[in-house]
Amino acid sequence: MLNDLQPLPVAVSAREGESGLGFLLRCSHANGVTLSELANYAGAQSIRWMTTRDAEAFAFLAGVSPEWLITRLKYRRHVDRRRRYSFLGWDWGSVASLRVKHAQVCPECLQESMSCKAEWEVAAAPACPVHQTMLIDRCPHCGIALSWQRPAVEICCCGRYLRRSAASARPSARILAWCSAMKGRLERNSAAVVAGVRTCALPSWLNHISPDGASRLIHAFGVLSRPGERMSSARAVEVPSPDEMAVIVERGLARVGSMLGQLSEEIQTLRLLVYEPGLLRLAKQGVEAADQETARQLLKMLDGGASDPLRHGPRRGGRPAKGQLELFDRVEG
Ligand SMILES: [Zn+2]
Ligand SMILES: [Zn+2]
Repeated sequence: MLNDLQPLPVAVSAREGESGLGFLLRCSHANGVTLSELANYAGAQSIRWMTTRDAEAFAFLAGVSPEWLITRLKYRRHVDRRRRYSFLGWDWGSVASLRVKHAQVCPECLQESMSCKAEWEVAAAPACPVHQTMLIDRCPHCGIALSWQRPAVEICCCGRYLRRSAASARPSARILAWCSAMKGRLERNSAAVVAGVRTCALPSWLNHISPDGASRLIHAFGVLSRPGERMSSARAVEVPSPDEMAVIVERGLARVGSMLGQLSEEIQTLRLLVYEPGLLRLAKQGVEAADQETARQLLKMLDGGASDPLRHGPRRGGRPAKGQLELFDRVEG
């Protein structure tokens, strides 16, 4: 089928760290077509979820290596009758860890580089450490959620440039360190994670677990705003706005940090603030063994040291047992 295609007349060079969809949007714009028109020409079924065949067709049209493009696009498949996703060379177990439908962007980065960064498609990274600003997922002019069907990376569907509104909040140093660490983890570069653990007291397990595991852990610890709050299964997979995500990450980090040295009554109070179904799912179905093990150990601490929280069910009382605390040890390096 690729034989029927001709490469696009205007070639666009890929930028470092660029998102696959952002790159395809730039290619479409440079060639005077929309991204849907390009997808139709490529014979692609969907731009949200790629197939290898579609990604190869896009790579051929755009004149880039298929390997480069395939890593930067999102795929889904079934593993043991559960959905599994791939993006940036990592497996993802929850669709809520990725921004699939609506993009988030840093307007300052767009202005400078006219390209979209791949890490913006990770939901739990809501800020730009370079500009020390929050990402936006809505156009400040028309209020509509940012679509990949917009005319150009820096222009909304309403035709206006994506700029930051004056009311935009500043992220805290901890959120910026978290976002740098998530980017470091995505790139399997531990320096940013180690720096965040040292300077902003980020948990050291960030250096071992997958980006999906980190996203799901911090969500489980931070999503509830008050003790015992009920959460529908629909809300559990909702992707919050960058501002809401920053609140979830801040709360999650504070709660994870407060687990050390707590008395059993305090741990019980904390337990009511944790979305346990999220932690249990990670313990059972995390995409990497380290994700499952970390979730299991955190559940054990919340459970007051029960030997296997997955098997014994809820049990209260007691202090966190020794040996679990290595989760919070500082990482070397
Ligand atoms: Zn930026
Ligand atoms: Zn707009």
